[in-house]
Amino acid sequence: MRKPIIVGNWKMNKTMKETKEFMEAVDGVAASDNATYGIGAPYTALATAVAGAKNLIVAAENCHFEDTGAFTGEVSVPMLQEVGVTHCIIGHSERRQMFGDTDETVNKKAKRLIDAGITPILCIGETEAQYDAGETEKVIREQLSGSLANLCPKCVGNMVIAYEPIWAIGTGKSATKEDAQNCCAIVRDQVRVMYGDEAAENVRVQYGGSVKPNNIVEYMACPDIDGALIGGASLKADSFIEIIEKTK
Ligand code: 13P
Repeated sequence: MRKPIIVGNWKMNKTMKETKEFMEAVDGVAASDNATYGIGAPYTALATAVAGAKNLIVAAENCHFEDTGAFTGEVSVPMLQEVGVTHCIIGHSERRQMFGDTDETVNKKAKRLIDAGITPILCIGETEAQYDAGETEKVIREQLSGSLANLCPKCVGNMVIAYEPIWAIGTGKSATKEDAQNCCAIVRDQVRVMYGDEAAENVRVQYGGSVKPNNIVEYMACPDIDGALIGGASLKADSFIEIIEKTK
């Protein structure tokens, strides 16, 4: 059976000092045989997070698909390997909207990460206008068919895919558990269409968008939701601990 995975996405938050304090407060609580817990940290905090993580997994929040070159400000997958991260978030809607990430570049990033043995956490999700227009399923299937193109079935089975409706990110307006379940089932079905039953049964699908200590349990009870990607509520040790305690 799929092991649940709950990951905080800190975005552009936390200094090294704050990261060290968070790890000291949270890592011990995150020991569990039943679920995996982790955080996605900014590049400058990754080494500190890795040093403080015995139980938590540590994810980068982005990578470049080339190994070296004239890409000012970018960080490559071998650099992430060296720092010791095991996971990397790719294709977050903030990167798609503000930094030009596309299904095509996200697909290249996924390939490079898989080659390096780092697990991609691939983010997809529709805008509010697409939701209102009834295009959610179409958008999910299109994003996945581009972002997951030409990978191996086993590789996709090992990935994490985060369904994050953009209108629910940072708004406090979370998807209903029925909508979240329905969309995560569509994600799994699209994986089935592209890579078969085994990949679909193994891939872990997270819901993200205003997940908090008071709604995490209802999402986790849904059959196709295997975890959560959590922004705001992962920043304070207390609220992330509450989420861990409620799900382990
Ligand atoms: P919030 O939990 O703050 O809505 O952010 C969700 C998110 O973007 C996680 O990647």
